[in-house]
Amino acid sequence: MSSHKNTTFKPRDPARHVRTIFVEESCLDLPYTKEILARAGHADIRPIKDQGQPEFKLPYPHSLNQGKQALLLCRNRGHFFKPCPGTREYRCCDYQVLNIGMNCPMDCVYCILQAYLNNPFLSFFVNVEDLLAELDLALTRTSQFWRIGTGEFTDSMALDTLTGLSCILVEYMGDKSTAILELKTKSAVVDQLKGLKHGGRTIMAWSLNSGPIMAGEEFRTASLDERLEAAARCASWGYKLAFHFDPIIYHDGWQQGYEKTINRLFDMVPAEKIVWISMGALRFLPALRPIALTRFPKSRFFHEEFIMGLDGKYRYFRSLRVEMYRHILECLKCRASPDTCIYLCMESDEIWRESGFAAGESTNLPEALDLATQKKS
Ligand code: SF4
Repeated sequence: MSSHKNTTFKPRDPARHVRTIFVEESCLDLPYTKEILARAGHADIRPIKDQGQPEFKLPYPHSLNQGKQALLLCRNRGHFFKPCPGTREYRCCDYQVLNIGMNCPMDCVYCILQAYLNNPFLSFFVNVEDLLAELDLALTRTSQFWRIGTGEFTDSMALDTLTGLSCILVEYMGDKSTAILELKTKSAVVDQLKGLKHGGRTIMAWSLNSGPIMAGEEFRTASLDERLEAAARCASWGYKLAFHFDPIIYHDGWQQGYEKTINRLFDMVPAEKIVWISMGALRFLPALRPIALTRFPKSRFFHEEFIMGLDGKYRYFRSLRVEMYRHILECLKCRASPDTCIYLCMESDEIWRESGFAAGESTNLPEALDLATQKKS
């Protein structure tokens, strides 16, 4: 089964990088698989044995670079829905992760997935009925308010032109009063979201960085203006918005770099639509550095000094983290709506206070985030 037809992907669509699609045999006849394959006119499609079967062989014993062009459509045999793996020692936001697949066709030097993956290719779970059934169960089991995101092990929108998953999830969430979905991305492909019945239950979110970091350390991603234009369009279609300054990376001129991005953000996007903005300084597993430096030898930021955090990840010294948070927080506060929840990701209460947050802001983080979703229209 193989085809090489003309692609219909937009020039900056990350999904256009997929050249080969492997499909587990047992998934070939699923209607959702057929839908995806019908959209993948440009790709070479190859059925393979199911994982776990004796005849199963990983189709690609190749590099991460090649793996980013190969997509495996398969079944998730575990759970789709679980709490974000925060760390007890740091303040956590009580987020729930919806696992839709692994890896991403974009390529950021700092991407933690490079050190996590046990195979190099992109994978996407096609048993979407099981995913929705698990969500149904979770959302009806308790009266808890759920903040749910799909961007933990992949980018939420990177393969969306192929998978169409955002439309399924956005409309599913449309009438759920006890949950909100966050789709976090560095892509700008959002046309498919126009006209969906989102019911105000989906937050479209973008990761942002200083200009030199976006230009030099994030490959195949949308530019700052493309991300912000996409965000402004989503706002005009009634979606709530969020932004993540994560990872904040120290570099020459970082102050001006982050300031310019923040000013551009508020020049292009209506502040009152922004539900939350997070900040998180670079942190990484020790295994990431050699992998990233082999793949991106010109990158310099891994050569700074780091300390080992309580979560087993390297991070900048406390004084530098606080300096960066203070500056970025001041810039954000100048222009953000008072209803926007600004917060730190994975930091202690002391760092929150030293960075300029008011006493108690860190301890009430989950409640503050829940409240922020309710205030924005
Ligand atoms: S966009 Fe996100 S998931 Fe994709 S490579 Fe960059 S950091 Fe990793």
